[in-house]
This record gives sequence, C-alpha cells and structure tokens, in this order.
Amino acid sequence: MKILFKNISYIDENFAVQEHSDILIENEHIASIGKDIDVDGCDKVIDGDNKLLSPGFYDIHSHIPMSLLRGYAEDLKLQEWLMDWVFPFEAHLNSEHIYNGTMLGIAEALRFGIVSITDMYMDTAAIAESCAETGFKASLALMAPVGSSSDPFPYAGAEDILKKWHKAEDGRIIVNAAVHAEYTTRREFVEAVAAFAKENDLRLHTHISETAFEHEECKQRHNGLTPIAYFADCGAFDVPATAAHCVHIEPEDIIIMKEKGVSLATNPVSNGKLSSGMAPLEDCRKAGINIGLGTDGVSSNNALNMLADLRSMIWYQRIKYNDPTVFDAKTAWKLATRNGALAQGREDCGLIKEGFRADLIMFDLDKPYLYPRFNILNNLVYSAQGTDIVMTMVDGKILYQDGEYTTLDLRKVIADVEASTKAILQKLN
Ligand SMILES: [Zn+2]
Repeated sequence: MKILFKNISYIDENFAVQEHSDILIENEHIASIGKDIDVDGCDKVIDGDNKLLSPGFYDIHSHIPMSLLRGYAEDLKLQEWLMDWVFPFEAHLNSEHIYNGTMLGIAEALRFGIVSITDMYMDTAAIAESCAETGFKASLALMAPVGSSSDPFPYAGAEDILKKWHKAEDGRIIVNAAVHAEYTTRREFVEAVAAFAKENDLRLHTHISETAFEHEECKQRHNGLTPIAYFADCGAFDVPATAAHCVHIEPEDIIIMKEKGVSLATNPVSNGKLSSGMAPLEDCRKAGINIGLGTDGVSSNNALNMLADLRSMIWYQRIKYNDPTVFDAKTAWKLATRNGALAQGREDCGLIKEGFRADLIMFDLDKPYLYPRFNILNNLVYSAQGTDIVMTMVDGKILYQDGEYTTLDLRKVIADVEASTKAILQKLN
C-alpha cells in the first residue's frame, strides 16, 4: 500500500514547519520525503493544499473505557466523586461494557489526532480486542479482570494475556506491568509486580503523587518515603516506567526520576478539574526528565482533546512559574508527540522522518483563526482546534478521514455504549 501526500506542509524532525513537500507512505512506514515524488504506482494521492501533517499525539495516561462515565458525576470533591460515584458504577462493569467504552474512546481519540495511548484499566483483554480490531496503537496495563482481586500478583491468567497481547499486531499493542497507586496497594504487591516486570522485560505504569493528601499519607506510612522514593525502593523503577500526575513531587523525587529514567505523564486538565494542583514540569524538564501529555479518563477531563490539554498545560505552567517563556511552542509540540512515543518505548515513532512508523495527523489550515501565517506552529499551538484534524493515520493506515472511520461503525459504537450505560444505571437504581 502506497499513499502519497502531495505538496503539503509538515513538521520536520526538528519541529520546524516545511512547506510544499511530498511525503510517501509505504505500508507502515514513511518511505520518503522530498519534492516531486512520482504519483505513479501510488494507491492513493492526498492533495496537501492548505493542509499540514504532524506526528500524531501520544496520550500517555488514559483510562480509555471510562468514556462510559462522561458527565456522570460532576462538581464533587475527589473522595466523594471516587467512593460514592465512580467505584459503585465500575462495580457493575463487565467485559462487554469495557469493550464498548473502549470503542467509543478510540473513536474520539482518532477524531482528536491521538494515534496511541498508554492506558490503565481493568480487563486488559477486552481493551486489547478493540485496539486490535480498529488498528489503534496502545500500551496497555496488565490488570486483573473485572470483579477479581489483582492481589497476589501475577493473577491467574496474566501470563496468557502477556503471551497473546504483548508486542501483538505488529508491535502496535504492548503490555505494561502496572500498579494503580501506592495508596491502593500493599508493599508486597508492588514488589511482586516490579519483579514480574523485570523478569518479563516489561515497562511499568503507575499513578504518583496526584494529590497532596496522598503524597503526605505515603510519607507517614513509609518512614518519610515519598511515593517516588517508595516505588524506587520497591524496585518498580528498575524497568522503564511512566509515572502519571507527579503533581506534588519534591526536588529529591526529581533526582530519583532522572536517575531511574522515569517518564512523567502530565494530566493538566484532570489536575485542574479535580483541583489537584500543578505539577513542577519546568523543573522536571530542566532536570532532563522525559515529559509527555496524558488526558486521564474522560470522567475527569471530559474529552480526549489533546490539543486543548496541551494548551491548558502551557497556561498552568506559565501561571505556576510566573514566566511566559516556559514551554514554548516547539517544546510543547514535541512533548505531545515524540516524547510520548519515547515514554512508550517506541523509538521509531513520533517524528516525521524517513524510516519512521507513519503515525500521522493532518490539519486543515483553511480556517479564519489560522491566518495570517507568520508562524504556522504558533498558530497550531495557540489557535487551532482539535476538530481541525481531518485525518488520523496509524502505522500507515488511515483510520479516520473527513468524518469517516475506516475500521469502526460509529453509529453502532454509540448504540452499544447507550445500551451499556442504561444497563448499569438500572443496576445502580
Ligand atoms: Zn489516572
């Protein structure tokens, strides 16, 4: 399969915008970038007039099936929201509900230019099935199935999931070891997951210091160890890890993260919505920590609109540091694209470069708010809308273009989600 983007603007590997280029995709990869590439032999030619290609977004902290809970419980304190609303709802989920919620999440993700997620949710197999079916890319957490206890680890069936799904679908699906958080697990469990990750050469995903309460409680429970120090002590960072949130980490934590090569998944919209705080990202960036962007679940976002989240992150950081120069346009764009791919361990993803996997999104630049064109990247970061994305390609395959999906039936997905939420509400009442 050969797809040629003809006479198009694109963001190059140095995050500079190049204009009037031809980009040829051959099967999964970016085959060549140049001028006047021959259209002969191409299966599809896409006119690049007033369009721009960017690496797709890597959403490195999500709970994709939580699409089912969008708008279900709002304007509540975190504990009440979780204990009285989210957990009781989740108690009624079965594999079919999780599959349906994931399909809706994938439809939305593709619409907003997300090519890959680092997810954490129950029932890895149901999520993996929907990713495989749609051609979506995902690094999924190895979590216990719904209704079962994940303690002890590995749980029954974990090895089978690993065998079936780790590096499956031409490497699009990766399975990560996962610990939900310090405050929901015991030390023996964290150590067992860490050992299992090491033994099976897996990456690890966890929540760290999302709230000040949780951060301080951890120190009381573990002789002054912060969640980062405690996880390091348990061996959880002896494999490449992604730590979500890190809102309340301390200077010592940043040193440990750098030493251990822990990537940080920041979730600015979720942290703002739940008033958790603003992560010290500029300190982490200066220390050389790989920072990527996450949406978190839509129940605390409430969308998978990475462009909106990126902009929120920039504003929060500038308020936090009282400095309008932090997270400039290039730094921000790289964070949502290449850095995310690196956090997933996908070295050949996240850049528009010959030989790289073709995880691409196309923007329609013909919008009143995207003129004049002093600097296209500035326009993308500060003015563009998530809905300006008109095409999403994963591993060289177009999964979404101009309102149409090639691997899912949106009307059916929506009907299935409505049926699932109705069934759950009936059980709750
Ligand atoms: Zn989360």
